[in-house]
Amino acid sequence: MTVQDNLEQIKKQITEACLRTDRNPQDIHIVAVTKYVSIERAKEAVEAGVIHIGENRDEGLLAKYEILGNDVQWHFIGTLQSRKVKNIIDKVDYIHSLDRLSLAKEIHIRAHQKVKCFVQVNVSEEDSKHGLHTEEAVSFIRSLEPYTNIEVVGLMTMAPFTEDRELIRNCFRSLKQLQQDVQALNLAYAPCTELSMGMSNDYEIAVEEGATFIRLGTTLVGKEF
Ligand SMILES: *Cc1c(COP(=O)(O)O)cnc(C)c1O
Repeated sequence: MTVQDNLEQIKKQITEACLRTDRNPQDIHIVAVTKYVSIERAKEAVEAGVIHIGENRDEGLLAKYEILGNDVQWHFIGTLQSRKVKNIIDKVDYIHSLDRLSLAKEIHIRAHQKVKCFVQVNVSEEDSKHGLHTEEAVSFIRSLEPYTNIEVVGLMTMAPFTEDRELIRNCFRSLKQLQQDVQALNLAYAPCTELSMGMSNDYEIAVEEGATFIRLGTTLVGKEF
């Protein structure tokens, strides 16, 4: 399948999920996750109209950035080691995996301008996943105030690995609830208007539950390695 074909199919599903829940499809941004595919395939995605690219390793992001440059917006979506921040900080538009103060400090120090960050929350509390526990998130966000190069644009989560669609839905709902708690704080540096949630297997549920950024790898660009 071409990326174009996949993208059309996905947009149709998004539109239907929006119709079911009275949302505007324009509020949902598709991040093409290209970590499993070549630069050529990433290029095909851009030619098909994708404007957001996500990578989870600094090497992968830098290799693709070299070719695609600033024609697209760059999203760092994986665990980010503090020592890698300096490699990517001038290239990325969004970091989806802010989950500790030491990382916030490093981003703050290395950045030359404000960086849009999602605070990653491990709503499902699976040990294998990174991110803050739900009940730690508000105090964590409060403690980001001194790091003035960080803007908390939203929250990010990964749903549990399960076939149980209701468990997945509950996870996304909890993130939405937490977003409302953060917004109620009225922090200038944490408008928290966005929700990064939903991947290939669960993006329709995520859209129904309020996602504004969905991160699609396999279903959009496929998996070559
Ligand atoms: C790999 C990855 C994705 C995309 O996964 P697919 O299931 O292939 O869509 C989304 N988010 C994160 C954080 C990832 O690491």
